[in-house]
Amino acid sequence: MAELEGRTAVITGGASGIGAETARLFVAEGARVVIADMQDERGEALARELGPRAFFSSCEVRSEEQVKAAVDLALDRWGRLDCMFNNAGFGGVLGPIDAIPADAFDLTFSVLVRGVFLGMKHAIPAMKAQGSGSIVNTGSIAGITAGRGPQVYSAAKAAVIHLSKVSAMELGEYSIRVNCVCPGYIATPLAANTVGRPDSLIEDQVDDFARRQPIPRAGRPRDIAEAVLYLASDRSSFVTGQAITVDGGAATGVPWSEQKPFYREFRPIRVYHPDRR
Ligand code: NAD
Repeated sequence: MAELEGRTAVITGGASGIGAETARLFVAEGARVVIADMQDERGEALARELGPRAFFSSCEVRSEEQVKAAVDLALDRWGRLDCMFNNAGFGGVLGPIDAIPADAFDLTFSVLVRGVFLGMKHAIPAMKAQGSGSIVNTGSIAGITAGRGPQVYSAAKAAVIHLSKVSAMELGEYSIRVNCVCPGYIATPLAANTVGRPDSLIEDQVDDFARRQPIPRAGRPRDIAEAVLYLASDRSSFVTGQAITVDGGAATGVPWSEQKPFYREFRPIRVYHPDRR
């Protein structure tokens, strides 16, 4: 049987990249989805592609009213909400801390952290009422290790990860699970969108991304969608409060090819004993 038969989901940032691929996978697995995004044309087009089990809701995640409207659309149509995937995001403000205008800091946190908070806030009442639910928030390896993303973005993603953990502690008693998926380097329009460049540049990233982690290929939206499917499905029914990295090993450490030659060359060693010189 399909993994998400009879389930419903709201996916923010659902018009592009990771969110769009997750919407496709969820529908293929039997779910009904609301695609919530500020890119109306793309969101409408994806909803048409996915057929009667997908609806688009025009949504800026900084707006409490619009986030609530996306959740209400799922509840009005289908009477329940099984998965809230708080995924909308962008790269945020770039540059050194002492050059960043305070309002650009606020905007970055507002999209990345307030947006997730609002998605959780408005999904929780329906999930409490039905006695189940899975909230999945998109973090990043930038929120786990320093230097893997812009400064404010990285701090915001760390906040998303911790918000997910504290919420998991609060909501477990209602059988609501909260987890984070933390992508590594995934070929999507994100970087281009953030600085207003065309999406056609995505494929230019692929060679560069293939060199950034032990697994020698760029990450793809489907890699993340598969993890979100696991977190949304009953297969993960005992998993909560986790930040699951899907990154080809990028955040784990230094790839073998970049480690010191001294570690990589085999040499016979002697057993050290202080009395035997
Ligand atoms: P993407 O640009 O393809 O998709 C992001 C979507 O979010 C877009 O459709 C965009 O319109 C939407 N969005 C942005 N700001 C919004 C707002 N204020 N309100 C509503 N919608 C908004 O990029 P993606 O890579 O699929 O990004 C999805 C998530 O994954 C983001 O949270 C991002 O930070 C995270 N992430 C991406 C990578 C990567 O390498 N691509 C790595 C780590 C984390």
